[in-house]
Amino acid sequence: MSKIEETFKGGDALIIVDVQKDFCPGGALPIEEGDKVVPVLNRWIGEAIKLSIPIYASRDWHPAGHNSFKESGGPWPPHCIQDSDGARFHPDLKLPDSVIKVTKGVRFDKDQNSVFDETGLAEELRRRDIKRLVVGGLAEDVCVLATVLDGREEGFDVIVISDAIQPVTPDGGEKAREKMKGMGVRFMQTD
Ligand SMILES: [Zn+2]
Repeated sequence: MSKIEETFKGGDALIIVDVQKDFCPGGALPIEEGDKVVPVLNRWIGEAIKLSIPIYASRDWHPAGHNSFKESGGPWPPHCIQDSDGARFHPDLKLPDSVIKVTKGVRFDKDQNSVFDETGLAEELRRRDIKRLVVGGLAEDVCVLATVLDGREEGFDVIVISDAIQPVTPDGGEKAREKMKGMGVRFMQTD
């Protein structure tokens, strides 16, 4: 039995945060080695499919001129603009047809870093009797962090796949990890 198979149990959901082209090398807001998470996540996706663990994949999905963009006074270069090529999931990410997509960052008045932020995801997961989240994706110190902290606040147990996340900066990643650990999050390496 693989370590992934051993980890998954009934009541789990796999949450894949923002593995989109713009957050990978060559994209509009590239995270160093962001694409490294893809083959690792593919292994988790493969096991999740076998074990009927539901898979949720979020995507940052901004209207043009979004208020998180520098041109509008925000911190980021324009990225993940709705229907643009850069907003697509990484082409090597093997999402099954059954994946449930969670779209965020669509609001005109604020950014949504957390996959839980006004998406109704917590209610959806409770409705499906999900108790624990297994999380990977981009970026560790921004949207993964916000999602994991909200997930804990919503009462879910959380495991973060430590080789399936990448931070915007190493320092930011370290701080994010401390924060998550302080909230009772477990980190595990795939191998
Ligand atoms: Zn964004």
